[in-house]
Amino acid sequence: MPRHPEKAARPDNPSPRKPPWLRVKAPGSPEYHATRRLMRELQLHTVCEEAACPNIGECWKERHATVMILGAVCTRACTFCNVATGRPDRLDPHEPERVGEAVTKLGLAHIVVTSVDRDDLADGGAGHFARTIAAIRHAAPDTTIEVLVPDFLHKDGAIETVVAARPDVLNHNLETVPRLYAEVRPGARYFHSLRLLDQAKRLEPSLFTKSGLMVGLGEETGEVRQVMDDLRAAQVDFLTIGQYLQPTAKHHRVDRFVTPEEFASYRRQALGKGFLMVSAAPLTRSSYHAGDDFARLKAAREGAVSSVIPADAGTQGERRAASSGPPLSRG
Ligand code: SF4
Repeated sequence: MPRHPEKAARPDNPSPRKPPWLRVKAPGSPEYHATRRLMRELQLHTVCEEAACPNIGECWKERHATVMILGAVCTRACTFCNVATGRPDRLDPHEPERVGEAVTKLGLAHIVVTSVDRDDLADGGAGHFARTIAAIRHAAPDTTIEVLVPDFLHKDGAIETVVAARPDVLNHNLETVPRLYAEVRPGARYFHSLRLLDQAKRLEPSLFTKSGLMVGLGEETGEVRQVMDDLRAAQVDFLTIGQYLQPTAKHHRVDRFVTPEEFASYRRQALGKGFLMVSAAPLTRSSYHAGDDFARLKAAREGAVSSVIPADAGTQGERRAASSGPPLSRG
């Protein structure tokens, strides 16, 4: 079976030569190989490999792998994505425990768990996410958990199930600007994705929410700024912006390479709009340096809260409760 049967008949989009700021070293450290072996032993998939992430050499050297649950085959066919499309695998009920075991063996202080889209499942895979969170908590109670979820095809109760499992960070990527959805994420709807983020925050205001965009797909800078405003209206805390890279000639074309200076400008603008944290750089990916970013995110919230709560306001307990409330706008 070809990996992307739906893309096979498409004309080739030649990939432009990468600029120097996107060139990375080929992976090959002993730690990289050890991480790879462990994933094979535990029969786990990673988005690092499935999405052909350029950061794999660096992340896996630190043993930071992003686990992809619910199988390796996706029911959608986004034009940017390298994950295989087709008839999905049977759900593996023991996968959550193996993810817990991987977290313990890798010694991770923070784990990112993502998945393929499973539109074929009654709950879109939300229950499996919840079981995976529980299994990680059981195996590694001190590890913080970030989930990068699909839109669950807006199935009733799906996002409630994931939020009730109490991850530390809930991420759902918008990926691109609304005008490009039909060609980039044909199975998704921009406002459904936005609503999912908004709903997650309303269900649990202390939850950190996060979203990401790829640039270089043909978007205009004004459209990116509008997405930032939409995300802030949904009270999203953390925004990531990275360069889209074309996995094969059959994937969506790279419209252009956004310069490091433009990324720095996006970062400044996003911070000005009130995000607690922004990571915007050519090689930024949702899960890149996610552990360090989570520590900064917590510190940013605590700093934002303490700057508006006078030291003598209420008891210590009341101040602590306030500091885990919704983020305060810095814009
Ligand atoms: S950036 Fe994320 S997906 Fe890429 S290698 Fe690192 S952990 Fe994996």
